[in-house]
Amino acid sequence: MYINLSDLKEIGGRKQVSLELEFHDLEFVNREIEIEKPIELELEIFNTTDSFVIEGKLKAELILSCSRCLQKYSSPIELNISEDVLKSEMEDEEELYLDEIVVDNIILSLPMKPLCSDSCKGICPECGQNLNEAECDCEIEILDPRLAKLKDFYNEDE
Ligand SMILES: [Zn+2]
Ligand SMILES: [Zn+2]
Repeated sequence: MYINLSDLKEIGGRKQVSLELEFHDLEFVNREIEIEKPIELELEIFNTTDSFVIEGKLKAELILSCSRCLQKYSSPIELNISEDVLKSEMEDEEELYLDEIVVDNIILSLPMKPLCSDSCKGICPECGQNLNEAECDCEIEILDPRLAKLKDFYNEDE
């Protein structure tokens, strides 16, 4: 989406923009990120000599996949935007292209390991049961192979 800047020609001028951006889902390093509702933007744009400075807030509701239980969950975000768009890098000084700014800011805000909740118990590595929903009867023994050998060694020794 473009913001029309034809009314912001004067250096030192500023303009308030509030808009909703209907966004397609993002794909980022093989992670699909769904965006549920239109993204809300409240921005202020300043015209400086070399650039347009954009400051304000972005609100969105993302659907992420939990890295432990793999369930999708909704994650509302609210970000502060602070960008400096160089005029020399704009195709047209009367049009400000917003999509890149929005996508970059959302991607930067993503958690490395998204969790549906801090106490998420994940899934059982044996049967795949979501342990947040029910327990399973698997006995999970995580044995380090090096320790297993040591154990045999001591057992033989006895
Ligand atoms: Zn989870
Ligand atoms: Zn299990």
